[in-house]
Amino acid sequence: MKESHESHNIACLNCDRSDQEVPLLMFTFGNQTRYICTACFPILVHKSEKLAHKLPGYVPPSDPSHEH
Ligand SMILES: [Zn+2]
Repeated sequence: MKESHESHNIACLNCDRSDQEVPLLMFTFGNQTRYICTACFPILVHKSEKLAHKLPGYVPPSDPSHEH
């Protein structure tokens, strides 16, 4: 597989802020390195369905006990 020459954009998956602005946490999904900032991290944990469209292939766990 040819490596695409994508720029190493270190920015939050959700809010797109860079590590120059906010502390970023690194994680991996689908062999890809992703970053999420500390402000958005709880979204990944508790509301991961909101980020599913940012992570192709990710199926968030459905939690019926978590209704509004
Ligand atoms: Zn963020």
